[in-house]
Amino acid sequence: MVAEQLQNVGDEIRKACEKSGRDPQEVTLIAVSKTKPISMIEEAMEAGQTIFGENKVQELCTKYEELPKNLEWHLIGHLQRNKVKYIADKAALIHSVDSLRLAETINHEGEKIQRVIPVLIEVNVAEEETKFGVSVEETLPLIEEISKLPYVQIRGLMTIAPYVADPEENRPVFRKLKQLSVDISSKNMNNVHMDTLSMGMTNDYQVAVEEGATMVRVGTGIFGERDYSKTN
Ligand SMILES: *Cc1c(COP(=O)(O)O)cnc(C)c1O
Repeated sequence: MVAEQLQNVGDEIRKACEKSGRDPQEVTLIAVSKTKPISMIEEAMEAGQTIFGENKVQELCTKYEELPKNLEWHLIGHLQRNKVKYIADKAALIHSVDSLRLAETINHEGEKIQRVIPVLIEVNVAEEETKFGVSVEETLPLIEEISKLPYVQIRGLMTIAPYVADPEENRPVFRKLKQLSVDISSKNMNNVHMDTLSMGMTNDYQVAVEEGATMVRVGTGIFGERDYSKTN
């Protein structure tokens, strides 16, 4: 089942690329495996998937230890400063940096292990009160500060769009994040690369790809619904 779903998501990404004149090679699928067992991740691996996303530090670490080391783990959920040390050497990319203090902690942990840690800045484009992330207006000033940290490397922006019935409703959100990344990129800041745009989830990744996503984070569409009643 996982293999079929992966195939299906891949097909949808290719279709969205075709529709918008993009090269499918520009889009990376992150299989969001949070709450899902090792056996399902292994199924995805057998189907060729090597990049996985987790939103909890503990779960990322456990799965990292249990599975082969050729996989890439992305931390996509909110990150507490006191937990950075556990993933500093494990996360291929941290998608959820939304404060200077968090970036400073990542810098500190990166220095300790002599690793420049790639990050994305999480932007709350839709300004939902329940979400983490900085506002569109706060993004550039924050990036200017973070760019001074030698063990943090900004690779782009991430957003979690609102849950909507019709994915078309999120098109303006994705378009706004893309525009923001173009604006920031044009400043040519040292130590800032705007090559990654992480946007789009199961409900709206096709629209996100049409609007320029270079990473989509798909969980349910690959692994099925999550059951939170029996986790942790
Ligand atoms: C859970 C999660 C996803 C995947 O959500 P689905 O709707 O299951 O595809 C993507 N991004 C983040 C930040 C998440 O926490």
